Amino acid sequence: MEGLTDGALYKNTIRNMEHAAKITKLSQSAVERLRNPRRAIIVSVPVRMDDDSIKVFAGYRVQHNQVLGPFKGGIRYHETVNLSEVAALAALMTFKNSLLNLPLGGAKGGVTVDPTQLSKRETEQLTRKFVSEIAPWIGPDRDIPAPDVGTSSQTMAWMLDQYSNESGFSQTGVVTGKPVEIGGSAGREAATGLGVVYIIEKVLEKQNRKIKGVTIAIQGFGKVGMHAAIEAHLLGAKILAVSDVHAAIYNPEGLNVPELVTYYNEKMTLDGYHGAKKITNDELLALPVEVLAPCALDGTVNSNNAEGVKAKIIVEGANGPVTANANEILHAKKCLIVPDILANGGGVVVSYFEWVQDISWLFWDETQVREKLRMVMDRSFDKVWDFSQRNSLDMRTSAMAVSLMRLEGAMKLRGQIW
Ligand code: NAD
Repeated sequence: MEGLTDGALYKNTIRNMEHAAKITKLSQSAVERLRNPRRAIIVSVPVRMDDDSIKVFAGYRVQHNQVLGPFKGGIRYHETVNLSEVAALAALMTFKNSLLNLPLGGAKGGVTVDPTQLSKRETEQLTRKFVSEIAPWIGPDRDIPAPDVGTSSQTMAWMLDQYSNESGFSQTGVVTGKPVEIGGSAGREAATGLGVVYIIEKVLEKQNRKIKGVTIAIQGFGKVGMHAAIEAHLLGAKILAVSDVHAAIYNPEGLNVPELVTYYNEKMTLDGYHGAKKITNDELLALPVEVLAPCALDGTVNSNNAEGVKAKIIVEGANGPVTANANEILHAKKCLIVPDILANGGGVVVSYFEWVQDISWLFWDETQVREKLRMVMDRSFDKVWDFSQRNSLDMRTSAMAVSLMRLEGAMKLRGQIW
């Protein structure tokens, strides 16, 4: 479908799916259904700007598959958002939720906008208009958005409020990743980064090592990257480098993460931080570290820089950070890559916990959330690891294979394929 399924990330996602489908001997009818999203909604989002002009932004919600339960996936605000990228991210959510054994389908949404150029009032208006436009297709039993790049717990609070206003009653279960005060879950903010760290620990465990003293570089210092740095530092890992869109910084002795977080929260940039040397994002990727965690955007590890990567373990905190070509180059270099649908699953696992708490009106404390998250991440990792060992396959193919087997089983039971 032109514009929907022809972007690089979409094609790469489907290529991975088809490769794993051959290995698991998935039926052709299952492959056909998963190749195309179920529904794609395109809306225009008019905003009255602070100077009284009107700007109209393009908004998207793509619902890929709901055989396992309601659609679920984040909302992205970024200037590069387009229909095909949103569709690819929606498909990844289908595969992720299946792999993690959650009763959820896959969706994603986004608005093509640079959120750093909007005032708070303009962002709120953009969010409310976007929700109004997609309201008929979302809801606690239909499709549950969450934060992603460029959106936050505040964005989710506005979405919840607008959706509730239009329904006539409060519907806290319509979004996840919202503030704890209005129905959010303890531990949601750190969940994706924490999950990334749990996965790093599992890989090291297979090599009979602990995380203490292990050197790590993290690309991206947002909701995923910052919390991965905080949690890994607490466990004694050495975070040698981190980056954001403005700057990358490096300290061979290990960064003082708590001090760095305070600096970042004040300045909203890593640029100018004195406790480290400024380097480029490509230099960060090529550092002699044991673990590299790309936690920014898709396609950041590509054929231009993969040859330089020295880390022997890559844990994909972001969605689709390693391109197909880079994947081949890194594979040849015997680099172990834990794919996005497993590595960054912590966010949607705690989003699922949040949704369960909202619809049952019973809330858990952070210790309970972390214990349950650890259980799901460990179990999912073990399943993928065992499959890869038994079949001599890489982790990316194995994760997709485990996910596809569950999806195919559900589609057969529901009579969607035969
Ligand atoms: P965010 O907006 O909070 O942070 C993104 C970070 O990446 C920022 O620090 C930004 O400065 C940086 N960045 C952007 N472009 C960059 C570049 N070219 N080089 C280096 N850094 C760059 O977003 P996030 O929520 O942390 O999401 C990051 C990735 O993780 C995305 O791929 C997202 O889809 C994925 N993800 C997020 C969650 C979640 O719970 N937020 C869950 C699963 C996956």
